[in-house]
Amino acid sequence: MGTGNGDIELAGVTKSYDGETYAVDGINLKIPDGAYCCLLGPSGCGKSTILRMIAGHEDPTHGEILIGGEDVVGLDPVQRRTAMMFQSYALFPHLSVRDNIAFALRVRGLSKTERYGKADEMMEKVHLTEFANRLPSQLSGGQQQRVALARAAITEPRVLLLDEPLSALDEHLRIRMRAELSRMQRDLGITFIHVTHTQMEAIALADTVVVMDRGEIRQAGPAREVYASPNNRYVAEFIGGQNVLSGKVGDVNGSKATLAGPTFSNIEIPLLAGTPLHSGQSLDIAIRRDDIDLLRLGGNGVPPGSTGVEGAVTGVEYQGTFVKVMMDAAGEGEFVAYVPERRFFEDTLSVGDRVLAVWQIDHAHLLA
Ligand code: ADP
Repeated sequence: MGTGNGDIELAGVTKSYDGETYAVDGINLKIPDGAYCCLLGPSGCGKSTILRMIAGHEDPTHGEILIGGEDVVGLDPVQRRTAMMFQSYALFPHLSVRDNIAFALRVRGLSKTERYGKADEMMEKVHLTEFANRLPSQLSGGQQQRVALARAAITEPRVLLLDEPLSALDEHLRIRMRAELSRMQRDLGITFIHVTHTQMEAIALADTVVVMDRGEIRQAGPAREVYASPNNRYVAEFIGGQNVLSGKVGDVNGSKATLAGPTFSNIEIPLLAGTPLHSGQSLDIAIRRDDIDLLRLGGNGVPPGSTGVEGAVTGVEYQGTFVKVMMDAAGEGEFVAYVPERRFFEDTLSVGDRVLAVWQIDHAHLLA
């Protein structure tokens, strides 16, 4: 884990730029030292504002920001020992890779020998040694990103803040650099806070994913928890991979409860200790797209322990490892099943076919 002192706590943090609206609205968040944390949410939800407040480029309107237990509000970035890596890597075009990386140390008054010694060490860590004398224009996007990261990391920050670090790269490179970021974070052993609007990027990288909506945190937790057990409809829909069904609870008895909505009835829902259900209450449930089986009508019907909805296929998209089958079963919006590729082609479905979408009752997830 971390090298010490890089744990972060935001307590009751708000930010208003105009005195009327809140870009960040009452955030409480703890990030342990050495963690990889992703702030995830749509454009304008306040991610960069949080990053800039942690970095020291912006002051909160209210609240405390603690790094390593110390309130850092009012301190500049150097005193906080934070470093920021920007979207547009902002490398100096006329300086070599080595000089770009050593630059921050020149500002801090280190001798040339010391600067180059540290820059060479850092280049080794991020596999840039062979490019030491090149100019940024002579590097690929991925290599430029490594230079930017090395340049931020050379000041030995306890927290590295990354604002959409992969968004300038093409899809293929983005996935490669994602793995590199993860490796570099482990090697450097410092806290990373990474802002992104890309769900899969956050899920692939983060120990802690923080899902945001209009200045507020809607859920924060390990990637798997946020993906597989979303707390609410917003998180389920934003992270994706889920079908959300809205309805009203029907009969509830000791062993069974049902849900009915505009396009379905009598879906069985799990009864959970600690989540009392009563007849007539409104409820949203989420079912993972990859937990759904599609059956032809007229077969054996719903298997024991499962439940389902009937509908017509409205679209089929080949995705390689699976086939995405869309249905009209959810009322508003679509209902989607991810069918493993081989299984799909054992009995191909087409638009217009009527099917029964089934899932195990206890695979449905009740949303708040
Ligand atoms: P994100 O990073 O999630 O896209 P931002 O933190 O950049 O979101 O912005 C959150 C909100 O604050 C937006 O409504 C944005 O317009 C506003 N905002 C951001 N920076 C400023 C600023 N310097 N002055 C005024 N409003 C700002």
